[in-house]
Amino acid sequence: MSAVKFHITTRSGNARTGVIATPHGPIKTPAFIPVSTKATVKTLDVHDLQKLKAPAVLANAYHLYLRPGPELIAKLGGVGEFMGWNGPTFTDSGGFQVFSLGFGLEHGVGKVANIFPDEDLQGRASQTRKRLFNIDKDGANFVSHLDGSKHRFTPENSIEIQQMLGADIIFAFDECTSPLHGKKYTAEAMERTHAWAKRCLQAWTNRDKQGLYGIIQGGAYKDLRIASSEFICALDTPGIAIGGSLGKSKKDMYEIMDWTIPVLPEDKPRHLLGIGEVEDLFGASARGIDTFDCVSPTRNARNGSVYIRPENGGTAKNKYSINIRAGKYSQNTEPIDPGCKCFTCQNHSRAYIRHLFVSEELLAMRLATIHNLHFIFTLMAEIRHAIQQETLHNLADNWQINP
Ligand SMILES: [Zn+2]
Repeated sequence: MSAVKFHITTRSGNARTGVIATPHGPIKTPAFIPVSTKATVKTLDVHDLQKLKAPAVLANAYHLYLRPGPELIAKLGGVGEFMGWNGPTFTDSGGFQVFSLGFGLEHGVGKVANIFPDEDLQGRASQTRKRLFNIDKDGANFVSHLDGSKHRFTPENSIEIQQMLGADIIFAFDECTSPLHGKKYTAEAMERTHAWAKRCLQAWTNRDKQGLYGIIQGGAYKDLRIASSEFICALDTPGIAIGGSLGKSKKDMYEIMDWTIPVLPEDKPRHLLGIGEVEDLFGASARGIDTFDCVSPTRNARNGSVYIRPENGGTAKNKYSINIRAGKYSQNTEPIDPGCKCFTCQNHSRAYIRHLFVSEELLAMRLATIHNLHFIFTLMAEIRHAIQQETLHNLADNWQINP
């Protein structure tokens, strides 16, 4: 009996709306899942998340394994109970953190890197990587970013840790490659990810309580992405995730989705890992992605970058956001995004929020986070409605986006 079930309610082109049923309630899709890395959506409490109607939260196995430890969280009832959140939860397997806190940190690259390596940097990349982590056939050794202690993740212990953390949706342990890696290395990493996915499936015993998603890898290489999609889809998991390097630009990212998605079965939910800019929400929803997670809306908020809708000057170029710290807002009595129904915009002016940021008051981050998440959840509700009405392209036109 699978803990996670999906049914599609509407189809429009490649886009679809649906419901993912989890042990902690349904998720209406397509949905943006906010990140609660260390069992908190930074600056918010669970009452805020309920008021914002957050569909679920995504915590991180790597961070919670290092602190406070999966044994403690298991003892206290699992990650949802531990944080006082009674809605659906996801945990990321830790693969991406092993990558991003090692290699990614050193090279300053993320999932969509704006770089053009003109040669295969595999040799140099793997030399640097060795200092912070190394990967072998069975798993990855890494050094804790907290205290320098040595640790090892394998497919088996990643699943064991995620079973102890107890989220509704868990992910297979994978090797996440960077856009700096050449094809040869990306192919080897993909083969490891496939072997590990099979081992994760074997290790996953909590099937009536948690749903496992396999992760497709293959970097920005068409043949690898298709091969990985076919392999991961053949595994008996209730959901599928698209992970790894999504190329060097948005164009690459959309191309990767266009290669991958036609291979995926209709009836399994599809999660796109680590993507969540406004334009991407349209692009991914239009292509038939059901859920995505990203630190952007909450991280941007803490930096004073707050979203505005097109009618208030939001464009793809300014990423639908303003920098509320700017001096020009010092006497501005309007809310961040006029017309927004969030707590922040209903009660506070741009001048006040700017003052809080300039004065380094903690409330600044909290009010900005409330606004940014409200903005994204409202947009996702509009996207779902538009898919149901077959008007997603009109909605995208209003946002001057060509998904
Ligand atoms: Zn607002």
